Amino acid sequence: MDCSGCNECTEVNCSIETKCQLFDRSLMDKWGALSVPIYQTATFAHIGFGESTGFDYTRMQNPTRQQLESVVANLESGIDAIAFSSGMAAIATVMELFRPGDHFIIDEDLYGGSIRLFNEISKKNGLDYTAVSLSSEDITPYIKENTKAVYLETPTNPMMNVTDIEKLSEVTRKHNLLLIVDNTFLSPYFQNPLKLGADIVIHSGTKFLGGHHDTIGGFVVVKDKELDERLRFIFKTTGAGLSPFDSFLILRGIRTLSVRLDREQENAIKLARYLKRQKHVTKVIYPGLEDHPGYEIMKKQARGFGAMLTFEVDSPEFAKSILNNVQLIFFAESLGGTETLITYPITQTHADVPAELLAKNGINDRVLRLSVGLEGIGDLICEFNRVFAIAEKETA
Ligand SMILES: *Cc1c(COP(=O)(O)O)cnc(C)c1O
Repeated sequence: MDCSGCNECTEVNCSIETKCQLFDRSLMDKWGALSVPIYQTATFAHIGFGESTGFDYTRMQNPTRQQLESVVANLESGIDAIAFSSGMAAIATVMELFRPGDHFIIDEDLYGGSIRLFNEISKKNGLDYTAVSLSSEDITPYIKENTKAVYLETPTNPMMNVTDIEKLSEVTRKHNLLLIVDNTFLSPYFQNPLKLGADIVIHSGTKFLGGHHDTIGGFVVVKDKELDERLRFIFKTTGAGLSPFDSFLILRGIRTLSVRLDREQENAIKLARYLKRQKHVTKVIYPGLEDHPGYEIMKKQARGFGAMLTFEVDSPEFAKSILNNVQLIFFAESLGGTETLITYPITQTHADVPAELLAKNGINDRVLRLSVGLEGIGDLICEFNRVFAIAEKETA
């Protein structure tokens, strides 16, 4: 639902929790169904010559997808959101904004699939990039005449480095660069990069927005009309739109975004504190811990710290023993769903990242990543006590 048309619903009193419940009433069916219908149709009949209902062909528009897009645009305070068949399809479409010869700056620590896209697809298409540690370095010396954009995640995956989006946006604005933020890790419930000066927000809708490990999707959200028109043109031309059924699932997931993330974050903080006290845990990286270098920036630019945490153990054998023995927790790729997942970045999400970059970012064979879910915290701690005891025996 477009809050701007409603007198009572200003940005101040329309909370993010409420935005998860709103939808565009003009797209409701005439029966008043509260659950958004799944318009499982490829095409739409025309009323007459030169007339359209606003829907012509599902590659371009579909009412279920449009409903989802309006909810996500509202959550990110954008003018439009485009729903894609995956997060990677969303990122690949954003890269189509650029031309051969263009250069962009990326953060050193990114989702492995994004780095694979930039290395294997974007480079072949004539784009070039420089990887910089955006959380600690000024980008000015890296800006070239052909630099067009800066691309980042914050907190990063998996090392949880935090970049000050507002501060960076002052530099990108001065140099006329697009600031692109993959906001998957915090979701719009905790962070809104467009409000902090970003031009494009990307989501893997597979993660917190969908929230149930049951569908793949992605989003691009913008606040500028001209940029939106360019992206919509690429979208309808290349055709990676989200299906009506998957749109329905993600809409449904968003209904509970606030309660899921509140509880998952609560569990994550408790687990982070618990892990810090464990003998074989050498490092816990969670931006909600006061000793995390990005803690103050997080407090300034986000409404929460999220449900992702990374920890390091004292040997690769210990890490492998944990992965082999979890029962309540699943050893699986992905994040943001109701179940707690443990991931081994070096062989899973970051398998295609060049070795030097892995080493530089501290991603080694002792690093594990957790996406904390909705289980009872006592049970999660019990699970860790159990697997740590086994791992200690196995590696003694
Ligand atoms: C998962 C993920 C992606 C890719 O999204 P898919 O939906 O798997 O294509 C991009 N960025 C981040 C941060 C992710 O976690």
